[in-house]
Amino acid sequence: MSRVNPEFATELQKYGASDFSACFNCGNCTATCALSTTDSSFPREMIRYSTLGLEDEIKASLKPWECYYCGECSSECPRQAEPGELMMSLRRWLTAKYDWTGLSGLMYKSLPASITAFVLTFVGVLAFAFNADFDLEHMMHVGHLFEAIAIASIMAVIFVPNIIRMWYFTILKPKTKVPFKKYVSSLGEFFVTMFTQKRALDCDDNRFRWFEHFILVIGYLSLLFTTVFMDWFSSQYMFVIVFGYVVSAIVFVVTVDFVNSRMKKKKTMNQHSQPSDWFFVIWLFMMGLTAFMTRLFIDLDILEMNKWLYVLHFTILVQWALIIVPFGKWTHFLYRSFAMYFAKLKEA
Ligand code: SF4
Ligand code: SF4
Repeated sequence: MSRVNPEFATELQKYGASDFSACFNCGNCTATCALSTTDSSFPREMIRYSTLGLEDEIKASLKPWECYYCGECSSECPRQAEPGELMMSLRRWLTAKYDWTGLSGLMYKSLPASITAFVLTFVGVLAFAFNADFDLEHMMHVGHLFEAIAIASIMAVIFVPNIIRMWYFTILKPKTKVPFKKYVSSLGEFFVTMFTQKRALDCDDNRFRWFEHFILVIGYLSLLFTTVFMDWFSSQYMFVIVFGYVVSAIVFVVTVDFVNSRMKKKKTMNQHSQPSDWFFVIWLFMMGLTAFMTRLFIDLDILEMNKWLYVLHFTILVQWALIIVPFGKWTHFLYRSFAMYFAKLKEA
């Protein structure tokens, strides 16, 4: 049992939480939430932990990952305590706690730190391009290698240790006993959640949003596969070329709608956007768009005269791979999938 920490609310506000101390425990949010069950007071339990600053209990909990931020609880809260936004900020806070490098927390809490990271990577790519005399063939070769190396390195150096830390906080430290065969038999839950995020379908009025996310995940993973494993920019196979166009177009079209929704703020879930939310959707949009344009310029045979486009695409790619994927909102996709898997283990 951790100690009461009244400073926790101030800390959580740096991750985007509103003034949840206004909560007077009426229970409307629990009654409203479609994901709440009779044996859990979700999300009220997390509001209580947060109010008391029970950090160990929050770290041991998988509940923040069960919330898909439909925003219903915030709409129904009579005290404007914004429970939906609290759950979102808890996910950011947990992400920072899982991350052994401490960079996730730094990026979430400090916009100047994030901007510095983006500027440094931009300068790094420019320096590389100058060093390579803007030789397009060489830059594209390195760009292709970079994708494969970045995926493997981030997986090994950042994600594996962070997932082990998450497992430690949520399973090992609370002394949850899980038979080994359960780890194996529950793996299906992990993959199904990762690809479908099916639990979001339990939220009322969430089906179109779920569908958009589903299409985006499939489009993004397909684009990754096409560029890394099928070498889309160099491929001569018609199927690969057309497939790359389709999946990159899916990525930027869906993200346009996400950016639009955040700007219009019509839905509760879009009313509070943190810089990390903007970085995620804008960089994903830019990645899809610049990849599409690069391949189009290759097919029109005008990329050599427009090398700036590949430099721009490479910059977006490097910033995406080194900042947003390991330390930004992308990690929610990974941690949520593991959270559902760990929740299944805990059922044992
Ligand atoms: S609806 Fe608002 S005031 Fe009521 S328990 Fe939930 S957060 Fe607290
Ligand atoms: S945002 Fe939606 S899913 Fe999350 S706690 Fe509130 S009502 Fe439940």
